[in-house]
Amino acid sequence: MSFTFAIVGGGLTGTAMLQLFAEKVRQEIDLNLLNPSEIKIQIFEKQETFGPGFPQRDRNVMPFHITNMCAKDMGILFGKSADFQEWVDHHQDSFQEQFPYFEKASFGQGGCNHYPRAIMGAYLIDRFHEAYQKAQALGLGVELFQDLRLSI
Ligand SMILES: Cc1cc2nc3c(=O)[nH]c(=O)nc-3n(C[C@H](O)[C@H](O)[C@H](O)COP(=O)(O)OP(=O)(O)OC[C@H]3O[C@@H](n4cnc5c(N)ncnc54)[C@H](O)[C@@H]3O)c2cc1C
Repeated sequence: MSFTFAIVGGGLTGTAMLQLFAEKVRQEIDLNLLNPSEIKIQIFEKQETFGPGFPQRDRNVMPFHITNMCAKDMGILFGKSADFQEWVDHHQDSFQEQFPYFEKASFGQGGCNHYPRAIMGAYLIDRFHEAYQKAQALGLGVELFQDLRLSI
């Protein structure tokens, strides 16, 4: 029997869903409980980019639009709430071109940082692509639909 799962909306929740789904499938494959070739995932997104939703999309935000929660609590990976903060720590040296307004360690106090939402958007793009590649590497059929075209 084969299954097709559809995720409508490739924003924050869709990205988290794809990450979690790929991880659960990996666990089932490891236990020989699943044949990945029988599972297909279709993701539908009406905007041009997968990952960010409305509040993180760079064309919707200005640099002073910051996230309202500590970055260390905004990670989208299950059981890893610090993932967003760790992603920023790891990538901030390369932010200069994309986010010229970014200055290290200027966004919070006591380990609670509020970054511009566009940076959260870049994190979500990264995590979406990572999950997409992970699902493909597991042998799942993954189809992306944007404006009724198939692409990533
Ligand atoms: C102005 C604003 C500021 C916010 N600030 C914060 C914040 O600082 N911190 C926080 O935690 N939360 C914030 N939120 C809440 C935020 O919406 C959620 O954190 C998160 O983005 C919700 O994820 P989501 O997947 O439900 O929606 P989204 O991330 O918006 O994803 C939904 C996706 O579905 C797509 N879509 C919609 N309809 C269709 C369709 N018919 N077919 C295909 N695709 C479709 C959209 O294009 C979008 O990409 C804010 C919300 C708003 C509006």
